[in-house]
Amino acid sequence: MDLFEYQAKELFAKHGVPTSPGRVTDTVADARKIAEEIGKAVMVKAQVKVGGRGKAGGVKYAATPDDAQKYAEDILGLDIKGHVVKRLLVAEASDIAEEYYISFMLDRANRNYLAMCSVEGGVEIEEVAVNSPDRLAMIAVDPVKGVDLAFARSIAEQGHLPAEVLDAAAVTIQKLWEVFIAEDATLVEVNPLVRTPDDQILALDGKVTLDENASFRQPGHEAFADHSATDPLELKAQESDLNYVKLDGEVGIIGNGAGLVMSTLDVVAYAGEKHGGVKPANFLDIGGGASAAVMAAGLDVILGDEQVKSVFVNVFGGITACDAVANGIVGALKTLGDSANKPLVVRLDGNNVEEGRRILAEANHPLVTVVGTMDEAADKAAALAAGK
Ligand code: GDP
Ligand code: MN
Repeated sequence: MDLFEYQAKELFAKHGVPTSPGRVTDTVADARKIAEEIGKAVMVKAQVKVGGRGKAGGVKYAATPDDAQKYAEDILGLDIKGHVVKRLLVAEASDIAEEYYISFMLDRANRNYLAMCSVEGGVEIEEVAVNSPDRLAMIAVDPVKGVDLAFARSIAEQGHLPAEVLDAAAVTIQKLWEVFIAEDATLVEVNPLVRTPDDQILALDGKVTLDENASFRQPGHEAFADHSATDPLELKAQESDLNYVKLDGEVGIIGNGAGLVMSTLDVVAYAGEKHGGVKPANFLDIGGGASAAVMAAGLDVILGDEQVKSVFVNVFGGITACDAVANGIVGALKTLGDSANKPLVVRLDGNNVEEGRRILAEANHPLVTVVGTMDEAADKAAALAAGK
């Protein structure tokens, strides 16, 4: 997960990395208010997850609250490389003597960590790499040893930072390493890391990517997730821990096991061609334990998709046998009551299939059609979706 600059700076502050004070907002009036509170010149900064905001007009120096208001008006709603600006960071403007570059990242190719440091910050690092590669230090970091203060100083030195600021830079670089490790990041980048006229070191920008595989041990990171770009049905599925992907089609799909669901999408797309081109509406893998609760949560998400005209439930009984799945379907329909309002085509096979089919036959739900094979079931579901 990539973070916004203001979120990266929250993590910096937590680990003692010096930044300029400021606050985030989504209104012009509030941007002005923050500038008034700071009581000095401020930077008005677009919060979008893309680099080069400065060049695109998304970072402005505002000497007065009037200026801050004017720039906030300009920048909110601005399109920066396809990202529309919805939030601004208004932060105290710092005086800059020099701009440096520092980053830590996961170096997948070398199965290691990598530090990059350069005295030539402020511009894009790719330009430094091309135009003055001797000024860009690329230093492997031993994951076990990590970065202590002495090594941090060596990183700064190899990046050609001037002698007067090596000690101060080392302290900040070591803290950035702490952010990288303690927060389970795969990237921590500061560009520019600035030297002020009085030789202080400040992180004026921040780019952090968090490793979502570590989210189980980073409960605080959930608050960073930006749900504004997520499909509402996918969001609802996430809340129930369902493995769901919205697609553009009319036949809702529920299956157990990613492989089975993938092939279900294929047979439905194929069958759909004969029925006016109907397509699968989603991917949904309810996994091994197809309980009534999971089945109900899955059906609830799929039936909430206005595009869906029919649902194909394709389950292969294994550890969770077909009778349990059949009870799951019957229970789910009971739970959903009147909100279950689209025809269901069910294909069951595998462990205890006879008992599973018997349970469905006995329940005799008006919306449910049980079909023997996967191809026939796909054809039936596609026909129903096409209104036949
Ligand atoms: P980016 O363009 O998306 O990387 O956004 P940055 O936050 O890095 O800002 C771009 C540039 O604006 C920086 O390289 C600085 O030159 C300048 N800038 C950012 N913050 C300040 C500040 O507090 N004071 C001054 N004088 N310039 C700043
Ligand atoms: Mn930057």
